[in-house]
Amino acid sequence: MSTPIVTRFAPSPTGYLHVGGARTALFSWLLARNQGSQGRYLLRIEDTDLARSTQQACDQLLEDLKWLGLHWDNADNLIFQSKRVDLYNRLIADLIARGLAYEAWETAEELTALRQQAEKAKRPYVYRRPSYTPDQIAQLKAQGRKSVIRFATPAKEYRFHDVIAGKDIVMPDEERQDFVIRKTDGMPTYHFAVVVDDVEMGITHILRGGEHTKNTFLHIALQEALNYPRPIYAHLSTIQNMDNTKMGKRDRDKKVREQTNNYLKNTKKTPADLAAQTGLASSRIADWLANSKSQLDPSDHDKLMPVIGLKPTDLPEILVHDFRRNGYLPEALLNFLALLGWSPGENRELMSMDEMTRLFSIDRISNAPAKFDRAKLLAFNTQTVETATPARLLAALRDYLSVNPDSPLNQATDEQLAQLLHMKKGFRTLREVDDLCRFFFYPDDHITFDPKAVEKVLKKDDNAGLNTLQEIRPLLAAAPDWRADPLEAAIKQYCESKNLTLGNVAQPIRVAISGTTVSPPIFHSLEFLGKDRSLARIDRCLKQS
Ligand code: GLU
Repeated sequence: MSTPIVTRFAPSPTGYLHVGGARTALFSWLLARNQGSQGRYLLRIEDTDLARSTQQACDQLLEDLKWLGLHWDNADNLIFQSKRVDLYNRLIADLIARGLAYEAWETAEELTALRQQAEKAKRPYVYRRPSYTPDQIAQLKAQGRKSVIRFATPAKEYRFHDVIAGKDIVMPDEERQDFVIRKTDGMPTYHFAVVVDDVEMGITHILRGGEHTKNTFLHIALQEALNYPRPIYAHLSTIQNMDNTKMGKRDRDKKVREQTNNYLKNTKKTPADLAAQTGLASSRIADWLANSKSQLDPSDHDKLMPVIGLKPTDLPEILVHDFRRNGYLPEALLNFLALLGWSPGENRELMSMDEMTRLFSIDRISNAPAKFDRAKLLAFNTQTVETATPARLLAALRDYLSVNPDSPLNQATDEQLAQLLHMKKGFRTLREVDDLCRFFFYPDDHITFDPKAVEKVLKKDDNAGLNTLQEIRPLLAAAPDWRADPLEAAIKQYCESKNLTLGNVAQPIRVAISGTTVSPPIFHSLEFLGKDRSLARIDRCLKQS
């Protein structure tokens, strides 16, 4: 009998869930679920950074996890670290009493100066316990300084086994530090709270991002001082873009930067002009453009994008929410995320959640950087859509619309949405359905005709398209049956009699009803729009062109 596996996902609620976090959650979930009813997957909210953690961010995070379907087993007892301060304080008091933790008084500036001194002397900076005399402490207190509590890390080499790296990871004694376990605001640091809670929650396996590998030395030092058992550690590899750069929020900034530079070049405008147009400080824009390592806040991006001609959906998706808003299905995203480092073998790729759960094992997770291949994700989404039932697609489209409240498709009935999904069969993302079908829902007199389409389809060759439209109009008006098949038969007959191709006729109709040269299949579009609205749009197009 193996011991039951207990895993956890422990996000800090500082915003929407990043795909890297989602992968960690997924692997932790799969590892627990692979054990059936024996395994447990728990959620803990690491909200000890009071300045950065917000209720809104926490709600967003929970919503993203629910959208993915990664349900946690402690729904009735979700752990918030901010509510457990008494417990941490009791344990810290005990460490202090045992001489394993102490008050320290340096300010941030003093610590920076110490670090700079070490850098100058070309030695690594490590914090070791200073000795304060009682007088000095009295003086520091009199100055109104607040102390932190540091852990007096016992001198020794620290080592732990990482199952993904497949080897021991070692920190020599020289690198040991006395790190902070309680901050000046009285909250525990991440290092302290994570150690206490992992043991309190009975966690057996810790899967987390590779950026935490070195933190694990601090955690095992604390576990030893607190007489805690050591869980199994597995640090996941980084997720990279196809060009080997680390995938992250920076990629969105990069795209905005490129477009801003293009915009300035093409319009011959200056950062000061842009500042006037966006309300951002001109120095902020100039500094950002001058320093490719700097980043603007997402709220600044929002101000710039309409001016430089970018839509939110033009930015590369990074957050789970971005993928949801752009019309990916959670099952496709999960399948794709699972393969960022894990593989079941035999080149197996497309899998249901049940299959992934059955096949998952920690020893098939690789430590090589995982490539985030967006083309592959799109292909997964397309395949998922292809095999999904109509009811599943309808639910997915409704969900997509709930996070795209501006889409006019929100006005549609379920029956209409089902028709659109059917008409647009073979689509890759729900956003494609949305983009292509919006014109149905605009008021007839709000259709704007794309000048290029008008030129190419209606005006070219001496208004050939317009003339056809004019001729076909009475035929359509007389159509006794406004369904796709009879409409198609009537138009085909007309084409034959006039020696025209179907395209010669279909394209002018398409431009007239949609304003563009792309739409779902034309006869189904006419049926969907209905006779009166189709004719009204054709009339308006004839009048305007
Ligand atoms: N709150 C930490 C984070 O979001 C959790 C790290 C861990 O899993 O221990 O990165």
